Amino acid sequence: MEQVSARIASLSPSATLAMSQKSNELKAQGLDVINLSVGEPDFYTPDHIKEAAKKAIDENFSFYTPVPGYMSLRQAVCAKLLRENGLEYKPEQIIVSNGAKQSVCNTILCIINPGDEVIIPTPAWVSYIEMVKLAEGVNVCVNAGIDQDFKITPEQLEAAITPKTRAIILCSPSNPTGSVYSKEELKGLADVLAKYPNIIIIADEIYEHINYVGKHESIAQFENVRDRVVIINGVSKAYAMTGWRIGYIAAPLWIAKACNKLQGQYSSNASSIAQKAAEAAYNGPQECIEEMRKAFERRKNLVIKLAKEIPGFKVNEPQGAFYLFPDVSALFGKKYEDKVINTSDDLAMLILEKGLVATVAGSAFMSPECLRFSYATSDEKLIEAMSRIKKVVSELK
Ligand code: PMP
Ligand code: GLU
Repeated sequence: MEQVSARIASLSPSATLAMSQKSNELKAQGLDVINLSVGEPDFYTPDHIKEAAKKAIDENFSFYTPVPGYMSLRQAVCAKLLRENGLEYKPEQIIVSNGAKQSVCNTILCIINPGDEVIIPTPAWVSYIEMVKLAEGVNVCVNAGIDQDFKITPEQLEAAITPKTRAIILCSPSNPTGSVYSKEELKGLADVLAKYPNIIIIADEIYEHINYVGKHESIAQFENVRDRVVIINGVSKAYAMTGWRIGYIAAPLWIAKACNKLQGQYSSNASSIAQKAAEAAYNGPQECIEEMRKAFERRKNLVIKLAKEIPGFKVNEPQGAFYLFPDVSALFGKKYEDKVINTSDDLAMLILEKGLVATVAGSAFMSPECLRFSYATSDEKLIEAMSRIKKVVSELK
C-alpha cells in the first residue's frame, strides 16, 4: 500500500522551494523566467573560504567529526558571538547542523510535546509552522500586518500566551518581511516573556548581517530571558554559503545536549569540509559581509522605488534581509482577461505565466494579502522583473 505516514501527509511542501523549482522547470523549457522566489544571496562564496575547504580536502578532513561539530568551529562561533554580539557562550552550548533549517527543526523537536503551543508571529518563514506540525505542536499565529510594519507588540504577545505555551519563534531581520525589531521593541517582548518561565525563545538571526539600520540586536542580550533563548544562525546568508549547509544553535546547555542526542541518531555531523570552510568564514576577514550588505541595500532602494510605481502595491520599507513583501490585496477581485484574481496565489501564478517572474504568494507565510519578492539578484534583472510585473498588473481591470 502506497501510504505515507499521517505525519508526512499533513506536511505542506516548502512553497519557496516549490516556486523556485517551477521557475527552473520553465527556464529548462527555454522560457526567460526571472526567479525572485527563493531567497539566497546571488554572490559567490568568498575566495578565502573556498581555499579553506580545498585545504581541508587535501589535509584529509574526511572522517566523521564530533556530532555537534569540530571543537575548533564551535570555538570560532563562540568567538563570533562574543565579538559581534557581546554574548558569552561555551562550545558545549553550540550545536552545528546541516544549515539553520536543521537547527530550527532540532530545537523544535527537542522541546515540543504533542499539544504544546508555539507562538509564531506572522508573516513567518514557511518552514516554522510545518516543523511545529512535525513535532505535533500547535501553532498559535499572531498576525502583524503592514500597518504595524509586520511586527507584533508586547500586548499582542501577552494576549496569545496560555498555560500551554512552550515556545515562540522570533525572526529578526525577518523573512519574509525584512522587518527588524529595535532593541526597545525586543526589550518589550522580553519583559513579557520574562513573566512566563516555561517559554523558550527561538531567535532566528540568520539575516543578522543583512541589516540596513545598523547594529544587530539579539533578544539574548536581556538578562531576564537569556537562559531561555536559543539563537539560530549560520553561514548561509552572511557569507553567501547556502549550498554548504552549515547552521548552528547557541542554546542553554540542556537544549544543546538534547539536540546533540537527536542529531546523533538522525544525521550525525554536518559535512567536515563545509565545517572547515565555516571556520574560515568566522575566523577570517569580514569585509566580504559589508560588501554584500551594501549591494543588498542598493537593490532594496531600487526595488522599493520600482514597486511603489506598480498600481495596487502597498509597500513598506524593509530594514533588513533581502525581501520585499508588498500588500497586494487592493488587486483582489480584478480581472486579467476573463480570469478573476482572488488571492495572492492567483496573482503569483499570473505574474509567473504572463510576466515570467517567479515570486512567492504570501499565503505560504500566513499573510495571504501579500506577495514576496527576493531582491537578491542583479540590478538589471530587478529592473526587468519589476517592469514585467508592472505591465501585467496594469492590465488588470
Ligand atoms: N531561517 C530563515 C528565516 C530562513 O530564511 C532560512 C533560509 N531559508 C533559514 C532559516 C535556513 O537557512 P539555512 O540555509 O542555513 O538552512
Ligand atoms: N531562505 C530561503 C527562502 O525563504 C530559502 C528557501 C527555504 O529554505 O525556504 O526562500
